[in-house]
Amino acid sequence: MKECIFCKIASGDIPSKKVYEDVHAFAFLDAEPLNIGHTLIVPKKHFETIDEMSSKELANMSKAIEKVSKGVMKLSEGMNILQNNNKIAGQVVPHVHFHLVPRYSGDGHVPEWGRKHNITEDQSNEFLRKIKSFLK
Ligand code: AMP
Ligand code: ZN
Repeated sequence: MKECIFCKIASGDIPSKKVYEDVHAFAFLDAEPLNIGHTLIVPKKHFETIDEMSSKELANMSKAIEKVSKGVMKLSEGMNILQNNNKIAGQVVPHVHFHLVPRYSGDGHVPEWGRKHNITEDQSNEFLRKIKSFLK
């Protein structure tokens, strides 16, 4: 997509701190890292959100995710993989990307999200019924 910053990074039109590249995916350091080594992996083809991608297109990214993950795990003590879709979920750049965030002791980040303890059995079951109907 012409005006997309991550398309431009993946094609090399905009410089980046490249970590890895193959035919389908491009990985580079985040410009505003959450930790040292925070890496983004993007598909070279433009998709705005993950639900636009087919299983084949997702599988095409798996090699890059595998390779970079293994590197990050060797250089840190753990890792969070985040992938935001739409503004409500914190997506700022509308081109699918996986955040690989290395974790270090004492890095000041919380280990996990806060649990919601007020979700009822009915709400969970209603979601379950609906999502199963989409997955048929
Ligand atoms: P998200 O909020 O999931 O859309 O994440 C977008 C990420 O892209 C943020 O962590 C930004 O710091 C990062 N980012 C935006 N522009 C650039 C860029 N030109 N080079 C590297 N990272 C970028
Ligand atoms: Zn794009």
